[in-house]
Amino acid sequence: MLIQNGTIYLQKKEEVGDLRIKSGVISTIATGGGLEPNGEEVVIDATGLHLLPGAIDPHVHFRDPGQPEKEDLESGSRAAASGGITSFLDMPNNIPNAIDKKTIQNKLDIAAQKCVTHHGFFVGATKGNLADIQSVEGMTGVCGIKIFMGSSTGDLLVHEQGDLEKIFSNTGGIIAVHAEDENRLQERHRHFKDRTDIAAHAEYRDTECAMIATKRAVSLAEEHEHRLHIVHLTSAEEANWLPSRKGDLVTTEVCVQHLTFDDRDMEELGTRGLVNPPIRYEEDKEALWRRLHDGTIDCVVTDHAPHSLESKSVGYPGSPAGMPGVETSLPLMLTHAMNGRCKVRDVVRWMSEGPAKVYGMKNKGSLVEGNDGDLAIVDLDNWRTASDSETWTRVGWTPYDGMKLTGWPSYTVVDGEVIHLRGSNDGLKGQSIGLPGASGRAITFS
Ligand SMILES: [Zn+2]
Repeated sequence: MLIQNGTIYLQKKEEVGDLRIKSGVISTIATGGGLEPNGEEVVIDATGLHLLPGAIDPHVHFRDPGQPEKEDLESGSRAAASGGITSFLDMPNNIPNAIDKKTIQNKLDIAAQKCVTHHGFFVGATKGNLADIQSVEGMTGVCGIKIFMGSSTGDLLVHEQGDLEKIFSNTGGIIAVHAEDENRLQERHRHFKDRTDIAAHAEYRDTECAMIATKRAVSLAEEHEHRLHIVHLTSAEEANWLPSRKGDLVTTEVCVQHLTFDDRDMEELGTRGLVNPPIRYEEDKEALWRRLHDGTIDCVVTDHAPHSLESKSVGYPGSPAGMPGVETSLPLMLTHAMNGRCKVRDVVRWMSEGPAKVYGMKNKGSLVEGNDGDLAIVDLDNWRTASDSETWTRVGWTPYDGMKLTGWPSYTVVDGEVIHLRGSNDGLKGQSIGLPGASGRAITFS
């Protein structure tokens, strides 16, 4: 494949030029252009478009196996591809949970048949599956261990010190932690159980819940010299505390929704905005942006967790927590860039380089010769309105319904093949043209 005349986001600069992908690998980058098509090579004219490394979403819940009515690995990866995401890491709270070799292998097999993008899977920790966790360590396609320290919507939960010690002291690789303190959540529940207003959610699952668990997880990581990744950071307090404890050992992420919404949006969003940990306050949102810019936060993710609008319509507190996001995260961040919140280059750092580095993904995350030919070729001039009726996710809605966004990918490329196309005359959804299982691989982690 030859892509001509696009603005190429290289590691330190961006320049107009040509990029060639041969046998799935970026073979030549010619700033200034001049590459001639050879033979039957596919040629893309990228005049006016921006070539970014394919975005990597290291935090999704694609519901496969078990809940295909919400999402499966095909609909999820197509939704991701439509938003310029070429690799995703999927969480273990499925039916059955991915907590041992058999359930992990099953997910890898399903992905090989259905996915159009690259993929990796977390093994979930339980109180009693240490040997199972050890049995999948280093396996291709296994990105790390997920621990839920506080209960959310799934039934995986490990919060007692002894159980956590056991996992931190007897495993390798990376532990990704959902940091909310279970004891505090339980203790506060009775004070909030009669509240039906959505504002109660952030009061109930308060900053202290998150802070207690984040501090505990960091202490465990330091004590056992274990790589730790704190998922979906939400509070100013955590974000401002972490710089003192960050080194090579501890990394963290923030969700696009926590950079976009705060409490003032919650009334309008209603239960669509219900997520764990919650959407908090303006000062939290601003601190998260600051700590992204100063490098404390390593990457921007979605925590794509689809639930049907029917289940959301039950109202607070009965509705499940979680929202879809993979098809809008890159356009949303590029829109923030166009609005002056950050630079396009920052988005590349947070959504491609960052996740590749955090999880040690081989040959991914930046446009350099020799890396995999994964690209999001985006249009920063064309603004389109996100809408429930034009979504790829199986649940058929988006929390960004009605928002005008730019940076929608014109082409999403995996291993040198176009898997999603959005022409200027196409609707918002564009065309998913990857065949199930024909593109994308299980990712190798170092
Ligand atoms: Zn999650």
